[in-house]
Amino acid sequence: MELILPDKKRSVAEDLRRALGQKVKDDFPTRTAYAVDASIYKIVPQVIVLAESEADIQTTVEYAVRNGIPLTPRAAGTNLTGSAIGSGIILDISRLNRILELNREEKWARVQPGIVYAELNKRLAPAGLLFGPDPSSGDICKLGGMLANNSAGPHTLRYGSVKDNVLALKVLVESHGWLEARSYSLADPRLEGVLATHPALREIMGLVREHAELIRAKRPTVSKNSCGYNLFGLADGLERAVFDLPKLFVGSEGTLGIISEATLRLVDRPNVSATVLIHFRYLEDVGEAVVHLLTLAPSALEMMDSNTLDLIGRNQHGIPADAAATLLAEFDSHQENGDSAKAQAARATALCRKYRLSADPVVAFEQEQRDRLWQARKALYPTLYRYDLRKKPINYVDDVVVRAEQLSELIRYLEEFFKGQRVPVAIFGHIGNGNAHIVPLLDVNDPNDFARMVEGYRDIHQTVLSRFGGSICGEHGDGRVRAEFVRRMFGEELYGLFVRVKQSLDPRGVLNPGVKISDTPFTQHIDYTRLSKACATCGKCNSVCPVYDVFQSEDMSSRGWFEIVTSKDYSYLNSKRVVEACLNCKSCRTICPADVDVSDLILKRRAEHPNRMAGIIFALHARPWVFEPLLKIAARTQPLWDRPRPRAWLEWLTRPLMQRIADTARLPREMILPRLATRHLRDRYPELTTNGRMEKKPGTAYFHGCAANYFDDGVGDAVIAVLRRQGIEPALPPQRCSGTPIQTYGHLKLVMEGARYNLSSLDPYDTVVTGCASCTLMLKDYPRLFEAGPEREAAERLARRVKHISEVAAESKRATTHEGVAPRATYKVTYHSSCHLRAAGVTEAPRQVLAGLPDVEYVEMQDADRCAGGAGTYILKDYDTALKVFERKQRAIEASGAEVVATSCPACMIQLNNGLRGKVRVKHIAELVRESYETANESKVDRPSSKS
Ligand SMILES: Cc1cc2nc3c(=O)[nH]c(=O)nc-3n(C[C@H](O)[C@H](O)[C@H](O)COP(=O)(O)OP(=O)(O)OC[C@H]3O[C@@H](n4cnc5c(N)ncnc54)[C@H](O)[C@@H]3O)c2cc1C
Ligand code: SF4
Ligand code: SF4
Repeated sequence: MELILPDKKRSVAEDLRRALGQKVKDDFPTRTAYAVDASIYKIVPQVIVLAESEADIQTTVEYAVRNGIPLTPRAAGTNLTGSAIGSGIILDISRLNRILELNREEKWARVQPGIVYAELNKRLAPAGLLFGPDPSSGDICKLGGMLANNSAGPHTLRYGSVKDNVLALKVLVESHGWLEARSYSLADPRLEGVLATHPALREIMGLVREHAELIRAKRPTVSKNSCGYNLFGLADGLERAVFDLPKLFVGSEGTLGIISEATLRLVDRPNVSATVLIHFRYLEDVGEAVVHLLTLAPSALEMMDSNTLDLIGRNQHGIPADAAATLLAEFDSHQENGDSAKAQAARATALCRKYRLSADPVVAFEQEQRDRLWQARKALYPTLYRYDLRKKPINYVDDVVVRAEQLSELIRYLEEFFKGQRVPVAIFGHIGNGNAHIVPLLDVNDPNDFARMVEGYRDIHQTVLSRFGGSICGEHGDGRVRAEFVRRMFGEELYGLFVRVKQSLDPRGVLNPGVKISDTPFTQHIDYTRLSKACATCGKCNSVCPVYDVFQSEDMSSRGWFEIVTSKDYSYLNSKRVVEACLNCKSCRTICPADVDVSDLILKRRAEHPNRMAGIIFALHARPWVFEPLLKIAARTQPLWDRPRPRAWLEWLTRPLMQRIADTARLPREMILPRLATRHLRDRYPELTTNGRMEKKPGTAYFHGCAANYFDDGVGDAVIAVLRRQGIEPALPPQRCSGTPIQTYGHLKLVMEGARYNLSSLDPYDTVVTGCASCTLMLKDYPRLFEAGPEREAAERLARRVKHISEVAAESKRATTHEGVAPRATYKVTYHSSCHLRAAGVTEAPRQVLAGLPDVEYVEMQDADRCAGGAGTYILKDYDTALKVFERKQRAIEASGAEVVATSCPACMIQLNNGLRGKVRVKHIAELVRESYETANESKVDRPSSKS
């Protein structure tokens, strides 16, 4: 099916833009970002459509069909097979992400395809319900991709894969428009209407009936299969007098139609789950143990082989040196007390102790501990990217299925095979289903490794079929990688039926050509350049990137930015729009299993074009003898100018200057500004300052940073009070801005100057305490600024001595316990975890401190770890986007029912105060600790007022 592309390539974008407006993009950054998914391939598309409605989908599909342009639907782009990239139009459905209807009693939900899997389950949680199939990529993958791939995951063992949990779909079929694809009884009068509107379906029904025997004979005999079209499901249905249409479209990988809605079957959330981690010394024991463990009805049974454990680092994950394989077994219970999960976990433990184990099994019930046990497994694939600079994990035989009891034999065969090739390989997967993920590490740019890949592809797939009677694809889809082998898996006759199905529903062949039904060799379109880069394109960073959260467009995302700024065609001018959009929140760096720091790459690109206006401001800022008097004048006059009318003038007057910072920058009249201090912190505590001298005096220094010094936000006083209560008299040595905002605008030279000044000023102190998340991170990050040598060493020494005030408080029992204090009425406090403090590795201490305060009921909010959108000066650089980022945080804070939201960063306080507008009080964690001291001391209850 050859597609004819229009002569003038640019006309596609122009045509579509005329119909759909700004939802259509074809600039360099967007096409670059959409050229990849999580597979080994790259194809640059012509144009990207960000659909916001079914009408947008229809307009785009009709245009593609009329003009014979390939069209690839796309959700999160986390597939491992190259099925969400294509040369024509990419139709991204991410913005269609609502739950349209939820029926608790009948346990179903009608959902749009752009919703992220984890988000869907978060929103179903209050109803006590769950969508069962759980791909390990669940934090980022979206329902559309899961449906189209028939995804599955660890808990498929209990809940089935996607195809088992779909009641109906709404699909746009190229040939005859919208289709309500549900399971129709053959006697249902509606079926006739459907078949009349969609004659292709009548044809397919006839085909399946006519070839039912062949289809049954070729059905894979393993527990999972996502290879080919699911004519097996259709044949089963017809036997039960049902035309089970969802079975046809689930797993069809965007080659038969575009899904705009799905009605999902939901299950009750388990009340208690127990996770058991078991390390086996001998692989042969695993196979036998699995057979017994399966009789205990686990909800998940996962395995990692010895090579995998080596590759991800045994020490790092506490895995014994002699473990040949690690199993994770999970048991769910729907009883209140979770008795059955606990009992099954105990039985599993007892059962496994009969085998030769490397350590006693570990059992966990609490979510946090269970997450820890799962951590290595879930981030496994991208973590393998850390292994070698050249040899990368390559997905080309990644998803085979055999019978569960044959998995040990399969692993032995694979280990021998790869040993013969001298190729390191990770083998892991859903052992309960006999589904093994095989990820060899190769340098595909090396001709020898390339030849090994081609040899492995053919030998392993063929062996899985002929020796094990298995399937080449359990859950990841065929995509481009397995398409050439689908024919071999099912034979000519059945493959011929697949082709007829495709031709019936997509006669012009525009839907995702090259995917699933294609003879194109799997080696075509391999992205050799990218496979030598550090990023695994797994998309995990997108799941935390606040910009992606708002725009739902790959060109406005962390993964996309990696592609853009590392592209050989990158220039600041062709990508300024996206390079300037990053908040520098560092969330991507915190989460990336492959150790990539996208924010740092972006900062480097900005440093090539430092912002001149920001440079003038920071140069002024670096001269406190000029800057501070000006700020004090502004503070004294704030009551005059910080009122609606003068603020409107101020916004207008400052606009030309602000626009030199960014097109979107302004001083919004409606923004609640922080109160400027008329006496700066250093003026208020002259006894602690060293009056400009850099004294050699061991002890504790308080690095207050700019905000606590210049704003009247209570943070600096609280930090000093808390330290004093601990018996620490801090010094306030001379200091310059830690550098975070300066770096954000590309002024590396100024950052270095400030860093050198601070290094020298802070060098004499044993401990450097901060109250600001960004200062904490920046001071800890100073070693990144310097080449190896004395300066780097000084920076490393400083990094080891920096502590956030919450860490100091957590270390001291006195901070959080008040012996002899009578219990008081409590108020609810939740915690917004500042991104930079998370990036600095401080996550537990603030929560521990808050939970220990005597008059506080600490409640964890959902999305505590997501950016609030302030990001230092970003709130001024792009106020509208900052507010959009904040919407999610606001929902979470309000849902927590807290009267106070605590944070660890003065900059976040500005954003929280502005966004919440007094509905919930905002406090720095040091202020709460100090208040609790005061109430304990004076035996008076100084409670923050309740939300009215
Ligand atoms: C680290 C990692 C771990 C993974 N673990 C698992 C796992 O445990 N189990 C598993 O099954 N998979 C896993 N995957 C693969 C992948 O994440 C899943 O297949 C996922 O469901 C794909 O969803 P997506 O939103 O990223 O879809 P995309 O990659 O965007 O698209 C996948 C397919 O769906 C089609 N599509 C998307 N939306 C629509 C629509 N509306 N209509 C029609 N077709 C559409 C696309 O054309 C494409 O063919 C993993 C991937 C990674 C990177
Ligand atoms: S930067 Fe890291 S998290 Fe993001 S896509 Fe690349 S490997 Fe995955
Ligand atoms: S720093 Fe934040 S905004 Fe920038 S790419 Fe990373 S996650 Fe996205």
